[in-house]
Amino acid sequence: MNYTEINTKHFNYFKSKIGELNIYYDDERCNHFASDHTENLFFPPEIVLFPQSSKDVVCILSYCNKHNIPITPAGALTGLSGGALSVCRGVCLSMKNMNKIISIDEKNFQAKVEPGVINEAFRQVLKKKNLFYPPDPASGGTCTLGGNFALNAGGPKAVKYGVTSNYVLNLEIVLPNGEIFWTGANTLKNATGYNLTQLIIGSEGTLGVITKAVVKLITLPIEKILMLVPFYHNEDACNAVSSIMNKQITPSALEFIESDAIHFVQNQNYAEVPFSLNSNIKSYLLIELDGNNKEKLFFDSEIIYNVLQKYQCDEILLAETEMEQERIWKVRRSIGLAVKAYSIYKEEDTVVPRAYLAKLLKGVKDIGKEYNFRSICYGHAGDGNLHINILKEDLNNYQWDIIIKEGIRKIFTLCVSLGGTISGEHGIGFVQKEYMDIPFVVENLKIQKKIKKVFDPNNILNPNKIFI
Ligand SMILES: Cc1cc2nc3c(=O)[nH]c(=O)nc-3n(C[C@H](O)[C@H](O)[C@H](O)COP(=O)(O)OP(=O)(O)OC[C@H]3O[C@@H](n4cnc5c(N)ncnc54)[C@H](O)[C@@H]3O)c2cc1C
Repeated sequence: MNYTEINTKHFNYFKSKIGELNIYYDDERCNHFASDHTENLFFPPEIVLFPQSSKDVVCILSYCNKHNIPITPAGALTGLSGGALSVCRGVCLSMKNMNKIISIDEKNFQAKVEPGVINEAFRQVLKKKNLFYPPDPASGGTCTLGGNFALNAGGPKAVKYGVTSNYVLNLEIVLPNGEIFWTGANTLKNATGYNLTQLIIGSEGTLGVITKAVVKLITLPIEKILMLVPFYHNEDACNAVSSIMNKQITPSALEFIESDAIHFVQNQNYAEVPFSLNSNIKSYLLIELDGNNKEKLFFDSEIIYNVLQKYQCDEILLAETEMEQERIWKVRRSIGLAVKAYSIYKEEDTVVPRAYLAKLLKGVKDIGKEYNFRSICYGHAGDGNLHINILKEDLNNYQWDIIIKEGIRKIFTLCVSLGGTISGEHGIGFVQKEYMDIPFVVENLKIQKKIKKVFDPNNILNPNKIFI
């Protein structure tokens, strides 16, 4: 598709609306918006605009729509599927300055926020009021709520509390033609018309720009304990996940980590590893229990301990204090960055019904042998969500760009055959769109493309994403 290049006339229009200080147009600063955390992609926009209000977003979008200028919303650029990259050039619409927590309604357990609020900063403000917004992607210290909404982000807490879509009640959105409206109501229930709120959640900034949101809050659980369980066999670690859940206990996190991932964190100095590493250990489960009664948590941890007796695991580490727990969580949160510091990698965000995790992991390793790649696997095992980091290491570009894709296709086909799909929380974005024929039949894809056309008939909003 041919789009209009940005010229002086366009620049002057943007300047008149949002001021020159809220525009980047030099290569050096635009280049900072050319990459997210996906492989080594680099797509610099022609210009970066920083709207300060919904009104600014309305002006910018309607202008781009009228002049056929592609425009791509961006949060903190921590995405792992290239969704926020300006792959067709044009405008990068950085939402990071729209970062106010507008209100916290303690009576109704709700908050109204702008999309540029940083996830962890929001959660810290709520903590002081004993309130809790559970979605906590491992990138929480940097990623924005807007990015979380657009990708339906998950994170470790999803196993007990659900994902972002379970907490968004209402959204203010701006359509590509500049129309602005709220999608629903600030209520816990809503059976009124089509559910546009949930359609926008996870739509990766391709249907509208989110300018405000009302989210649901819950009370903060006050007690936590954390267990780190080393396993001698990956299969045991995967199978233990279902066994634990079958005991009617729902941990607040249940993470699988291959021991190679921990070695990367240690070797790349991303975090201090507060436990000793044994070369016979193949993987770990990180199990967090939360609630308001510590005795009950210890009681549940005893049940888990008994479940684990039937698997070959080493001594279990129990972290009781917040400081001990945080040190272990820091290791978990550092894995992605530590792997990236070692090698370019492709991250596959596979998800299957959790009882099939062992089959998925075995399949991934077998496919790796067949296609000659090494993978580091970890993820939200309680949700059946396995992140597969495929390392480039010394593969040549032909192997990396062409051959590996056949292997990825096999992994995704395996996921779907197990009742799963190709992304649990990172989205399709730019890098996974060529695989959309695996989870969806043609009729399904046709309907999805028609929805895009209804919202964005001129295809200016985040073009060349999700679908080929
Ligand atoms: C170390 C690391 C750990 C991670 N862990 C997790 C995890 O545990 N769980 C998880 O789900 N993800 C995780 N991620 C992926 C990523 O952080 C999340 O997907 C996050 O939601 C992206 O937020 P962002 O602000 O960086 O968005 P960006 O990357 O900037 O954008 C992501 C998408 O949202 C769109 N977008 C952004 N703002 C808006 C808006 N206001 N309106 C409309 N569209 C918008 C963009 O166009 C793009 O398609 C991790 C990433 C890293 C690097």
